[in-house]
Amino acid sequence: MSVRVRIAPSPTGSLHIGTARTAVFNWLFARHQGGKFVLRIEDTDLERSRPEYTQNIIEGLTWLGLTWDEGPSFQTQRMDLYRQKVQALLDQGLAYRAYDTPEELDAMREAQKASGQAPRYDNRHRNLSAEQEAAFLAEGRKPVIRFKIEDDREISWNDMVRGTVTWKGRDLGGDMVIARAASADEVGQPLYNFVVVVDDIDMQISHVIRGEDHIGNTPKQILLYEALGATVPQFGHTPLILNQAGAKLSKRDGVTSISDFQKMGYTAEAIANYMTLLGWSPTEGMNEIFSLEEAAKQFSFDRVNKAGAKFDWDKLNWINSQYLHHMPVEQLTDLLISYWQAAGYAFDATSDRTWLQELAALVGPSLARLEEAVPMTRYLFVKDVGFTEAATTQLQLDKVAIALQGIITALEETPTLTSDNVQGVIQAGVQAAGVKKGVVMKSLRAALTGDLQGPDLVQSWLLLNQHQMDLPRLRQALTIAEAKA
Ligand code: GLU
Repeated sequence: MSVRVRIAPSPTGSLHIGTARTAVFNWLFARHQGGKFVLRIEDTDLERSRPEYTQNIIEGLTWLGLTWDEGPSFQTQRMDLYRQKVQALLDQGLAYRAYDTPEELDAMREAQKASGQAPRYDNRHRNLSAEQEAAFLAEGRKPVIRFKIEDDREISWNDMVRGTVTWKGRDLGGDMVIARAASADEVGQPLYNFVVVVDDIDMQISHVIRGEDHIGNTPKQILLYEALGATVPQFGHTPLILNQAGAKLSKRDGVTSISDFQKMGYTAEAIANYMTLLGWSPTEGMNEIFSLEEAAKQFSFDRVNKAGAKFDWDKLNWINSQYLHHMPVEQLTDLLISYWQAAGYAFDATSDRTWLQELAALVGPSLARLEEAVPMTRYLFVKDVGFTEAATTQLQLDKVAIALQGIITALEETPTLTSDNVQGVIQAGVQAAGVKKGVVMKSLRAALTGDLQGPDLVQSWLLLNQHQMDLPRLRQALTIAEAKA
């Protein structure tokens, strides 16, 4: 049997990290097995589905490198097929029209609650006579279509992650609604659990790999496979991603969508790598930093954990920093340019390319996230940097003004700084003021960057010099130095 798996996101929100991780496991499994990975957009919830979410999902999967072999297909374009299949179940007597009003269903649930029973449909319209149906229709009731679930059925499957899982028919909530708002002779809107099965059969999905939150759907779906005369696929329910409190990671935990991680400056490779580690352990001896292709070589469900995996920002940041620190500088520059542009920094991506590349090389080794480069490099882009209190204090120390004056004079005679002549310019300041070189260096940092910490000072200076930003800034700092009380 050829392996065919799918990711079936609902476009009711941006691509969530949980869905993306499920996509990763499907992709890895497909690639390991030489199978196919299919993308299906489950957009049957017309009220909550939005085209912009579909776009966000497609862009997110593409960004992560989770290329699909077929699709995207859209469930809203396949309604005729679903309706035919509902009709087939009706024709075989495996499904029926039920005419309960919402009030009657509520009353049923209340009564069950009052007597300590779990809420379920009591199958009361399973065997209506033609007269009863006609009477309900005459009252103007709109039927739904329910699929029969026998209480005494036992449903078992061998889950690729969890081993044998068994459910009893009586725990499935009674005969299930598979289509809504039907009329006497038509099938209304087919519902989620049903269309998933029709699609998985039609798309010949061999392994249904999805989040553990779907485990309660699986026994119902298995019954539908049987009813539709199809082979039941293998199921694998992957552990959930949890927050620090051990609950399912949700929007309330802050950042959960892939596009937000992207904006924060995580690389696609790092996110894909981290998501793989959330729930799967590489074999002994395999580095924790790996590409999807490398993971695919040895991916199997034997090494997928049953327990939920806690999301760990420190670990993600560490993984991301590994990618950033080892990335070719051209690639890093390409990535950083969009952050600098978004920050509104003025530069020309083409004519400043060498300068930007040197800048990327300067800050790259200290980045955990791309976004951090924005504040870190501000002093290299903006004209009026602003001086922190600590920098101002440093500038106003004894003899700093003289040192700065000495540096300015030397610099005016050396308009183009290089790593060879820069030391001479610094030395001019040291000699003019008669202070230790350390004091001059600290003051220079304060003067050139407006702060006392930051990337390598000499390298920063050379970059400022290339854009003729160093002299004006030194002069500005000199004014501050001379303004001391
Ligand atoms: N559409 C479902 C979701 O987004 C997935 C259904 C499935 O994988 O069977 O959670």
